[in-house]
Amino acid sequence: MLCPYCSKEMKYGVIESQHEINWKPKKAKLLGAADFHEGAIILSERSFLKGSCVEAYCCSDCKKIIIDYDEELS
Ligand SMILES: [Zn+2]
Repeated sequence: MLCPYCSKEMKYGVIESQHEINWKPKKAKLLGAADFHEGAIILSERSFLKGSCVEAYCCSDCKKIIIDYDEELS
């Protein structure tokens, strides 16, 4: 994937967590699953054994990370 800011090739990698990885419109008062937050997008549901993991592309020049998500999961 090419960086949308500088057009250089981005580095592939993953983001891992012990918890669900989600995006929310604002910081939650209580940490929790995206189900509890309106407009939240789940990037990776948590698996009890494996945790959660999402593929991401990094541009170390622009300090940007891009994550694809599946609309059906939201
Ligand atoms: Zn860049």
